[in-house]
Amino acid sequence: MEKTKLQFIDLAAQQRRIRKKVEEGIKAVLDHGQYIMGPEVALLEKRLAEYVGVKHALACSSGTDALLLALMAKGVGPGDAILTTSFTFVATAEVICLLGATPVFVDIDPDTFNISPQKLENEIRDLKATGKKSHLGSDAAAGPLTAKGIIAVDLFGLPCDYKALTDIAARHGLFLIEDGAQAFGGMYFGRKACGLAAIGCTSFFPAKPLGGYGDGGMCFAEDDELFELMKSLRVHGQGADRYDNVRIGINGRLDSIQAAVLLAKFDLLEDEINLRQAAAQRYNHLLKPVENLTLPHAPPGYVSAWAQYSVLAKDEDQRAASMGKLKKAEIPTAIYYPKPLHLQKAFKNLGYQRGDFPVSEDFAQRIFSLPMHPYLDFADQKKIAHVLAEN
Ligand SMILES: *Cc1c(COP(=O)(O)O)cnc(C)c1O
Repeated sequence: MEKTKLQFIDLAAQQRRIRKKVEEGIKAVLDHGQYIMGPEVALLEKRLAEYVGVKHALACSSGTDALLLALMAKGVGPGDAILTTSFTFVATAEVICLLGATPVFVDIDPDTFNISPQKLENEIRDLKATGKKSHLGSDAAAGPLTAKGIIAVDLFGLPCDYKALTDIAARHGLFLIEDGAQAFGGMYFGRKACGLAAIGCTSFFPAKPLGGYGDGGMCFAEDDELFELMKSLRVHGQGADRYDNVRIGINGRLDSIQAAVLLAKFDLLEDEINLRQAAAQRYNHLLKPVENLTLPHAPPGYVSAWAQYSVLAKDEDQRAASMGKLKKAEIPTAIYYPKPLHLQKAFKNLGYQRGDFPVSEDFAQRIFSLPMHPYLDFADQKKIAHVLAEN
């Protein structure tokens, strides 16, 4: 049999393991006909809350909506500053702007790609002292900004330093939200990702560690009141019943078919997380001798969900050369993220400039990701290492 082409993320290999269960799950939905928020959704919430180890889980329509619901539950609005990393997917900061609040970016820790607690502390002090970021342009929110909360992003599946972040949030009276869209299945000192802050948010976009066959997301919270608020916000600010509207909310519901797919995939998750650890270890071993390539690692006490295996080339030219060699060998690669958020046109009105976040800017020019999924085999990884080692 001809070997199939190496995939960046091999969803087909996964599907072969669960196809029957998925079909049965979808058929059950077709039979009972509760297409939105049906029994599969409630079951998924129950299973995932247990897995993460928090009291409540709230399924919703995407990872973006999970973040939006979390911020809405925290009452975020105009004049509020939400601190977050400049090196993440756009959704993290987009939801802040959608609510009229202002993202205040923070540079990353070069060792983990995650928000730097030290730099976060400095930004908060700066913000409190001036009431406004000094370089915020005239288009930025009029009047002084109030530091309200932090969104930490577990980039590429590696949890942030939550001991440090929780401490900073508490000392400054800020809430802490975990954007665990890439980290479901990861761990931090014995605790599961998405359960590491007041509200944890994740995404079920197909390419994430727990991905469906469409869009979906989930919020996790220990607090009863926050959970009830998010539950109401998920369905148009619903009160006692569907036609009682007590606040402005969104349509953030999850489809039953998506939940059925996710239930089938969830049964594989622990095994897949282990397979990802093994794949990452093999990469680390095989790529160690490759010159001028910085490899990712999980510090002691951390387990990454390895949503991505991202490496750093020496410079932009070397990255282009490495990616070119891999492409020639039919090995797919990707760049997450080629442009940090503070330099994106969408956030231009915030007034940031090149040079504001040197680590994010430097990494954006050097980073690239290699194929990573639970079904990656040793031979393919050897080939990747061989190609990268060529001069
Ligand atoms: C994917 C992702 C999101 C958004 O999730 P969607 O389900 O695509 O809306 C948010 N934050 C991060 C860090 C992500 O990777």
